[in-house]
Amino acid sequence: MAIRPIRLLGDPVLRAQCKPVRFPMTYGDKKLIVDLYDTLQDFRKRHGFGRGIAAPQIGIAKRIIFIDSIGAMINPRIVKRSKTKFTLWDDCFSFPDLLVKVQRNRSVVVQYDNENGEPQRVSIRDDMSELLQHEIDHLNGVLAVDRAVDTKSIVLRSEYLKFFKKRK
Ligand SMILES: [Zn+2]
Repeated sequence: MAIRPIRLLGDPVLRAQCKPVRFPMTYGDKKLIVDLYDTLQDFRKRHGFGRGIAAPQIGIAKRIIFIDSIGAMINPRIVKRSKTKFTLWDDCFSFPDLLVKVQRNRSVVVQYDNENGEPQRVSIRDDMSELLQHEIDHLNGVLAVDRAVDTKSIVLRSEYLKFFKKRK
């Protein structure tokens, strides 16, 4: 039950290959889920955005993400991707002052375990598809800046609001 500091771009833990969670979960893994929830809620309150968070963003290299509208997703993996892709401006708690234009699959199917270790499956599209691709990338040490469509597609949030926002 704690709000943990968000690890920022440059912190090596954001580049770690995260370890799978085994069941039954340890006390540490259960506490990690609560901390992810608390930290996500706190970030949303302070910054006005944020729908998901990944464990390495609070310094723990475990395969857990927490999505506002779904809850904890443990050992999530993308099992199917649409051929259709779309581009959009993405942001991240770990570099809150940047916007990055990325390309993502329009829809994905994600398998994951719930807190009891029971396998779950969701089929999602559009902004939720983008969100889950972003968070699952974190578990493999991949950040949105790595996915920039080109070198001109990384901009400061302040300038994004001035020059790009209406032209998605
Ligand atoms: Zn992120």
